[in-house]
Amino acid sequence: MSERNCDVVIVGAGFSGLYLLHRLRGLGFSIRMFETGSDVGGTWYWNRYPGARCDVESMQYSYSFSEELQQEWDWTEKFSAQPEILKYANHVADRFDLRRGIEFDTNVVSAHFDETTNHWAIETDKGEKISARFCIMATGCISTAQIPDFPGLSDFKGATYHTGAWPHEGVDFTGKRIAVIGAGSSGIQAIPVLAEEAAHLTVFQRTPNYSLPSQNAPMTPEYAQSWKDNYAALREEQRYTAKGNIRELNNESALAVSEDRRAEMYEERWQTGGAAFLSSFNDLLVNQRANDSAAEFVRDKIRTTVKDPETAELLAAKDYPIGTKRICIDSDYFETYNRDNVRLVDVSDDPIERMTPSGLVAKDETFEFDAIVFATGFDAMTGTLFKIDIQGRDGLTLRKKWDAGPRTYLGVMSEAFPNLFMITGPGSPSVLSNMMVSIEQHVDWVTDSLVHLRAEGLDVMEPTREAEDEWVEHVNVVAHKTLFPRAASWYMGANIPGKPRIFMPYIGGVGAYRRICEEIVADGYRGFRLQPDAGTSADAATSENSAVAAAE
Ligand code: FAD
Ligand code: NAP
Repeated sequence: MSERNCDVVIVGAGFSGLYLLHRLRGLGFSIRMFETGSDVGGTWYWNRYPGARCDVESMQYSYSFSEELQQEWDWTEKFSAQPEILKYANHVADRFDLRRGIEFDTNVVSAHFDETTNHWAIETDKGEKISARFCIMATGCISTAQIPDFPGLSDFKGATYHTGAWPHEGVDFTGKRIAVIGAGSSGIQAIPVLAEEAAHLTVFQRTPNYSLPSQNAPMTPEYAQSWKDNYAALREEQRYTAKGNIRELNNESALAVSEDRRAEMYEERWQTGGAAFLSSFNDLLVNQRANDSAAEFVRDKIRTTVKDPETAELLAAKDYPIGTKRICIDSDYFETYNRDNVRLVDVSDDPIERMTPSGLVAKDETFEFDAIVFATGFDAMTGTLFKIDIQGRDGLTLRKKWDAGPRTYLGVMSEAFPNLFMITGPGSPSVLSNMMVSIEQHVDWVTDSLVHLRAEGLDVMEPTREAEDEWVEHVNVVAHKTLFPRAASWYMGANIPGKPRIFMPYIGGVGAYRRICEEIVADGYRGFRLQPDAGTSADAATSENSAVAAAE
């Protein structure tokens, strides 16, 4: 493999980037790696808001690539809080000596493919230019915080925060009147903690969310050991599940059982805690009537928890199926609305009108605050990639190519952008899964591909247009077999004005997707064009037969 400045540029030092660096370095590739932040951890470096916590069980939300690592690390809670996950990311960086390979406080601003050299020309905000054979975007799917363009936004004189860019030193809200705008996963986690601290808290909710109790608890040594004794087998099982989590799917239809049995099952899962509730029956996400039964159970829970019936009704989601916006997992969220210092303001029909120097105006009422917390989400899946000026063949920008929605083959590459890889990109299971499982699978797949190219004396890898078109169609068809497109979710791009409404992740399942990736490799990288540097279509090792044949 010819080497210019380096073989590979990795962008991002979250869990994706860290594992990439570890694997590629071990295989002898020369690497430059850049991270906007001042340290490792990605999501868990940026999202330090009070209450931030993982909603995948700790024993499952961790790397599986090193037996020593998974044996030596001890989690303290069933669902880990942000500081502990960040500590884990730091431990991994130190243990595998990764930090020295990462250039922090450095933003990659552009990546242009040079067709004469088949290299990527990458530029940072420090003005450095790097030439690399491969460029891997480990830039995260939920890494571009979004504050809506409220009129008068800059007029507010108090403090403002976004959950996804929280100050490292923390914030003391004692005695303060605060607003939280947004009631998604971040808001729902932050609100109970903020309410404990603030003098008064007002929540502005545009859409109520279904939320399930985490039933979080300290980790017991017995439970941790039961995983550690069996990690190899359990991790392998995880990799072929639908969502990358080992949790029991009850393989019955919600409609095939009696009302009593249904209620019993929902109650059992509610008490267990976490997202396992959505696996109570096998048709909750594909059958509206089945879904209604689960949604009504949750609404009833809210009605019995929240004392004020009017507030309870406002908190009870009704307009979309449960699970089709990212399910929220909470600790005492609904209970928080029973506090005297908490008020819910529903802005579903009547949006926040404007910010003022001392607060905001909504529903003809003037509110005064010392601080506003924006829990308003992210420009997910595409936003971070679009912030980088990515240009492929003929100067085609990624933004232009994805004008009507992301187009990828397997969520890992896009045609016209040779040798540019994405970790957990749109068109892969990604945000629908336990992301540690999806990250490891993508990193392994990409790394193995680079090794294959090197072994075969090949330099350029690119999906064919046909393979990509088929995959995009497949992703879309599978999504429309479910209830997911019925919700105005960020999975659909619906939270960003003007963003195309396309269901972005692949919902076929982590295990099914992994098999497709494996079969494509076994079939000589079906759907990819692999070429030597001076390759022409005549000497190219191409494989352009049906991309999704194996999937069907
Ligand atoms: P990230 O962690 O997002 O890291 C990407 C890194 O790339 C960032 O540090 C960013 O600064 C850097 N970067 C981006 N652009 C550039 C650039 N141009 N130049 C240089 N650096 C750049 N997933 C789950 O599976 N379970 C959960 O419970 C869960 N909880 C979450 C909670 C929150 C609050 C959020 C926001 C996400 C959560 N996720 C969860 C998803 C989470 O993002 C993934 O689990 C995982 O951490 C993603 O790792 P990553 O390395 O792919 O991306
Ligand atoms: P989010 O789910 O997109 O929620 C954003 C909230 O802000 C929504 O309630 C949204 O309302 C509201 N909002 C946006 N614009 C608004 C406006 N103009 N006026 C009023 N309200 C507005 O974002 P998030 O809560 O940060 O979560 C993003 C994702 O990160 C999650 O879905 C999840 O994948 C991940 N995450 C996971 C956890 C976890 O539990 N482990 C925690 C946090 C985040 P609408 O719904 O009406 O758009």
